[in-house]
Amino acid sequence: MVDAGPERLRRGAHRSLRAAAYDVLREYLITGRLAAGERINLVDVQRMLGVGLSAIREAMCQLAAEGLVVAEEQCGFVAAPISAQDLVDLTTARVEVECFALRDAIARGDLLWEERIITEFHKLAELRAAGPNRALRAPNRAQDMAFHDALVATCGSQWMLRFRRMLYNSSERYAERYSHIGVLDPVSKRDADEDHRAIMEAAIARDADRAVALITQHLEEAARILLRIGITG
Ligand SMILES: [Zn+2]
Repeated sequence: MVDAGPERLRRGAHRSLRAAAYDVLREYLITGRLAAGERINLVDVQRMLGVGLSAIREAMCQLAAEGLVVAEEQCGFVAAPISAQDLVDLTTARVEVECFALRDAIARGDLLWEERIITEFHKLAELRAAGPNRALRAPNRAQDMAFHDALVATCGSQWMLRFRRMLYNSSERYAERYSHIGVLDPVSKRDADEDHRAIMEAAIARDADRAVALITQHLEEAARILLRIGITG
């Protein structure tokens, strides 16, 4: 895999180095390039990214606040470990936040919101049609995220949306491990497409109770699959 991180840092020279280092490090943590549970050597990271130690340390502090790294005594950092217990906890939190955001978005949804959901749904269905075993690859997961983002786009609480993004980033660490070991998508293509279609229809029909029940099932099933295949080791 070509590492575009340092190149992105150079291109992002107009942005603050801290923000650019944060972006790259977050991606490394999510994709497992910085492996869960591993101690992070800040000097190595500095060498890898070619930015100052203070920018890296500040980025690390932000990542610690978001739960992607754990700060240790004497300014050390460890990539946040993953575990079955953490996945269960994370899923519970995601369901709560997702249901709140979806309910609020449905109450505020307008015609543009509906159009965006339908557009993202079709893009996702097209990608997934390329084959069920590709359903968990990064571009498909990015489009899955775009669809789910569209559903909650009109949620009025920025704090909830921020929490939601943070929880999503943490759950991506599990999904990435899943795709890396090359397991075929155990959820049939048809099931996931049906899930998405049902969620879309319930949201557009402003049936909030049904939409939140479906989204709960959708998130819990994804976690159950990861637990079943023993992804957390
Ligand atoms: Zn989905």
